[in-house]
Amino acid sequence: MYNFTKITASIGPKSESRKVIRDMVAAGADVFRINFSHDTGDVQGHKIDLIRDVAAELGKPVGVIVDLQGPKHRIGDFETEEKYPLRVGGKFTFDDDPTPGNARRVYLPDTDVLKSLNVGDRILLNDGKIEMTVDSVTKHKVVATVVRGTEIWSRRGFNLPDTDVATSILTPKDRDDLEYAITKKPDYVAVSFVQRGADIAYVRELIAARTTHPIKIIAKIERPNAVARIEEIVSAADGIMIARGDLAVEVPFEEVPAISRKIIRVCRMMNKPVIMATQMMSSMVDAEFPTRAEISDVANAAYLRADSTMTSEETTIGINPVNVIDKMARILSYCDADTIANPYDWSRVDNTPQNDWSRSVSSMAYLNHAVAIIVFARDADAAVQISCRKPDIPIIAVCNDAVTANQLCLLRGVSSVYDEQLYGMRDGFNSARRFGIHNGKLVIVDDDKISLRTLD
Ligand code: PGA
Ligand code: MN
Repeated sequence: MYNFTKITASIGPKSESRKVIRDMVAAGADVFRINFSHDTGDVQGHKIDLIRDVAAELGKPVGVIVDLQGPKHRIGDFETEEKYPLRVGGKFTFDDDPTPGNARRVYLPDTDVLKSLNVGDRILLNDGKIEMTVDSVTKHKVVATVVRGTEIWSRRGFNLPDTDVATSILTPKDRDDLEYAITKKPDYVAVSFVQRGADIAYVRELIAARTTHPIKIIAKIERPNAVARIEEIVSAADGIMIARGDLAVEVPFEEVPAISRKIIRVCRMMNKPVIMATQMMSSMVDAEFPTRAEISDVANAAYLRADSTMTSEETTIGINPVNVIDKMARILSYCDADTIANPYDWSRVDNTPQNDWSRSVSSMAYLNHAVAIIVFARDADAAVQISCRKPDIPIIAVCNDAVTANQLCLLRGVSSVYDEQLYGMRDGFNSARRFGIHNGKLVIVDDDKISLRTLD
């Protein structure tokens, strides 16, 4: 069984043991996501240590993504922990007064939000179950009309789909988490609620000022203004996550599939990996099998040739995380094989001058019926570009650096190996054999030298 589409698995209370992580890798997990929205510091660091131990034990590269919570907005506390009634058409006030809230008003801890809201903007609370529209904005408060929703209570999260929020992309908590995470040398840092390319540039500078470790940055697309600036953000980031959880709250939900396809197309064109995320198998939090709709959702990611699918609570708090990965890998490997049998013509997307080089590599493989492409990878670049042409044969990336091998775990169709000795053998034969390929033509990519060799 071989899946071209990779699996990113979120780690949480039900999966943070050495055994479960080992079994998840065996079942097909390629990359792990550590979500700093929950725990922080050493509790999270311990998970990264476990993943690194398991990878070393299995002699297999595994990627680690540290996911920062970002400016996820929450309202303040209420006088009691009860639920307070709301009336459609009634008024509700958000202000900068930290005293506990009641049925008429509540404190807004993030003062940047008060300053950013405009009359007519929507405020969506509790995953969109409550909708309000802003009537008036003054220095210390915002008055809104309830459009939908029946009750409100302490610390509900909220989304602002119409507002360019003038806030830093990193909260003080994110800065602490990043500071700590850097010491654990993750392969990727994912940035939440990105609004523009400059947000990524800012995080990149912050990381560069603290470490020489080459951490790559993933932009999570979960806001309408990020969708509107998608090219700018894809260009600034090293990878993209289609964060459909918050995205489907902030944009009309029926637009999510079209937006996802567009993001995948832009990433392909601009040579950046893309992860399809959230609720892919969520019924498996307490079920042994995915629903028909979930099977189709995972299949769709393979057919669209995304780089990776992702699991969320089904592998963090679900009854059987390993079973989730096993079922996901079955769907992906079957659909990947079908995709190869029934290729979709994306050639127009790939046909840009910046892709000339990688197109010649994949065309050479295609025209010669090659069985694999072997890339000698000093950094991830060449393998990423070739992967983004979505060739229908495995790409074996031989790395002389462990971080590159880990980072390439996220890339569609790439099997990476960190081995100084293999890296020295530029005919590629031994690398192919290591992955079970014993005869056929190989395309060997060694810097600018591209050659065709026959293994028999
Ligand atoms: P989250 O991101 O799980 O960190 O919110 C993913 C999403 O919003 O889909
Ligand atoms: Mn999110």
